[in-house]
Amino acid sequence: MYDPKSSKAEEFINHEEVLKTLEYAGANKHNAELIDKIIEKAKERKGLSHRDATVLLLCDIEEKNQEIYALAEQIKKDFYGNRIVLFAPLYLSNYCVNGCVYCPYHLKNKHIPRKKLTQEEIKKEVIALQDMGHKRLAIESGEDPVNNPIEYILESIKTIYSIKHKNGTIRRVNVNIAATTVENYRKLKEAGIGTYILFQETYHKESYEKLHPTGPKHDYAYHTEAMDRAMQGGIDDVGLGVLFGLELYKYEFAALLMHAEHLEAVFGVGPHTISVPRIRHADDIDADSFDNGINDDIFAKIVACLRVSVPYTGLIVSTRESQKCRERVIHLGVSQISGGSKTSVGGYAEEEPDEEDSSQFDVSDTRTLDDVVNWLMKMGYIPSFCTACYREGRTGDRFMSLCKSQQILNCCHPNALMTLKEYIEDYASEDTKKIGDELILKEINNIPSQKVRDIVVERLEKIKNGERDFRF
Ligand code: SF4
Ligand code: SF4
Repeated sequence: MYDPKSSKAEEFINHEEVLKTLEYAGANKHNAELIDKIIEKAKERKGLSHRDATVLLLCDIEEKNQEIYALAEQIKKDFYGNRIVLFAPLYLSNYCVNGCVYCPYHLKNKHIPRKKLTQEEIKKEVIALQDMGHKRLAIESGEDPVNNPIEYILESIKTIYSIKHKNGTIRRVNVNIAATTVENYRKLKEAGIGTYILFQETYHKESYEKLHPTGPKHDYAYHTEAMDRAMQGGIDDVGLGVLFGLELYKYEFAALLMHAEHLEAVFGVGPHTISVPRIRHADDIDADSFDNGINDDIFAKIVACLRVSVPYTGLIVSTRESQKCRERVIHLGVSQISGGSKTSVGGYAEEEPDEEDSSQFDVSDTRTLDDVVNWLMKMGYIPSFCTACYREGRTGDRFMSLCKSQQILNCCHPNALMTLKEYIEDYASEDTKKIGDELILKEINNIPSQKVRDIVVERLEKIKNGERDFRF
């Protein structure tokens, strides 16, 4: 039985309900009247149910699709303005006891170099990341109770936060590690993590079990119910995601929104972020061997439909995607991207030699962070290194009320400008600096409150004179 309030994975991600949703959406994909009604509902900016959202996803009336894209762009502008938050992944260890068939870190891969960063190596990586200008990291680790126990993760987080190199600091550490216990989530919360991210990979139970033939991750329910445990452990910013390409994208889309509805129904807060990775080539992984790959058009449609369906949820796209593709989906709703990323264990401080390649997947967008910052600004976006909310205690429902109170322009916008100014002063190339200073000057006028504007002008001057870390 489908029940969004249930604590059982198979009830809140109910297979029958997903199938019924796909049937309903398929039957209504040409139903202009219904699609109009759903678009009108989406314009209220309160989100859409998984059923309505899936109708929009499958809608094949060209004119209506254009309306969906236009609305996605508008909602993106209203909620996120022209800001794009930047982050980088940091791989701590690729030891893993699982058998995920799409990931080169699976246990049976005997030739990929296995690496685990020592605290000293983490320090070097973090200094390299700080020297690029990063303030926000997502740490990644394989699942291995012997090599990567929770104590190792906690110690690593402590190390990361402790490093202050020149003007650099890592101000927010998001964590992407395997599903774990409430007790461990509580420890992560105490360690001061930002978002806990866990990709579902696929919501389709039967496929899930085939794609995860061995290891603790094989347990569908334990994995799918992880966010509930995370929230019980006090983490109120959680990040969902599926790996598109493993199963039918429509199935994943409907189920992903059901997961969001479940969190909202039980905890009163939906997911903080949703990531939309697509499967990529990697060491012993051939992405083409998976039958459900999606093209760029479908990918863009997924992003647009997510944007109108969960307006308060940040959407993340990584360097798995090319510059061109990222450009397209940023317009449609993506609010956070990675830049200058390495997907190997280590690799920021020193380039890995080819024969020691430990990457989890091939990166498509290989530009430096400075290139990415420059490119965003040339497109009229403000690259933001803001981490204010979590540090001000605005997480979970407090974060949501900031979004809903429309105060975001008086908060995110100045924070974006001030953190961009820090980046410009400390790390930018000459060209980026020039474009950035002009952009900041122009964008100050878009802060609605005169009082906030005055404070920002004053703080920008202070940043120029060497002070750091202002925030609203
Ligand atoms: S996806 Fe994660 S759990 Fe699976 S093999 Fe890769 S690192 Fe291990
Ligand atoms: S102020 Fe909060 S919501 Fe806005 S960009 Fe910063 S961290 Fe994100």
